[in-house]
Amino acid sequence: MPPDELEGFVMLIVSSPSGAGKTTLCARLRQQFPDLRFSVSHTTRKPRPGELDGREYHFVDEANFERMIQQGQFAEWARVHDRYYGTALEEVENARRSAKGIIFDIDYQGARQMRATMPEAVGVFILPPSHAELERRLRGRGTEDEETTLRRLGNAKREIAHYGLFDYVLVNDDIDAAALRLGSIVIAERCRRSRHSLRCERLLAQAQSFERSP
Ligand code: ADP
Ligand code: 5GP
Repeated sequence: MPPDELEGFVMLIVSSPSGAGKTTLCARLRQQFPDLRFSVSHTTRKPRPGELDGREYHFVDEANFERMIQQGQFAEWARVHDRYYGTALEEVENARRSAKGIIFDIDYQGARQMRATMPEAVGVFILPPSHAELERRLRGRGTEDEETTLRRLGNAKREIAHYGLFDYVLVNDDIDAAALRLGSIVIAERCRRSRHSLRCERLLAQAQSFERSP
């Protein structure tokens, strides 16, 4: 992609405690912005029913994940809910070549690493309306056994405590309202002045030939 196209490239990090609704909200974003790429992470957790290798995640075993860490293949990686999760550098490079932006669904540890190496990335933290509603949603999804559910609910406090790492906080109360707010963040980020310097300079150069002394 030419450098001036890259100026408009948006990197959005979406994080939340498990069950707050980020997968649901990201699916809405995907419909609204078909020109954005959704980063497919590597993980050592087992696929849930309906999940496909290469679509929701690249499902790998611990040995393969650790080999990738040693070979420096990750833009970021972390241990989350006692499993490995990571974003391959290749994922980011592919997006830069073929999309107008990339959305990362990663935890706060990954967000911190991304922001250190890619400060232009924008972070959105999604909150549930209450802890009771978080538990209702996580249990209602029905994808986790009791031990994993309790581990995820127990980790929510530490995750929420890191809200300060993010630029935006969004409460996922009503799904339509929350999806509208998330989409608005993408639109606002696309309008950021720093993403339009080349366009402004180009227009200035064109306008120069019409310049008259006052
Ligand atoms: P996460 O990806 O953050 O773990 P999910 O997107 O899987 O969370 O959502 C957890 C559950 O909550 C799912 O069953 C989803 O359908 C439901 N859910 C998501 N957003 C809302 C909402 N605004 N109101 C009610 N239920 C929701
Ligand atoms: P889940 O198992 O519910 O799909 O995801 C569990 C947690 O792992 C979520 O908080 C999710 O954002 C996070 N996660 C998913 N992929 C990555 C990744 O590549 N890196 C990091 N750091 N976290 C991830």
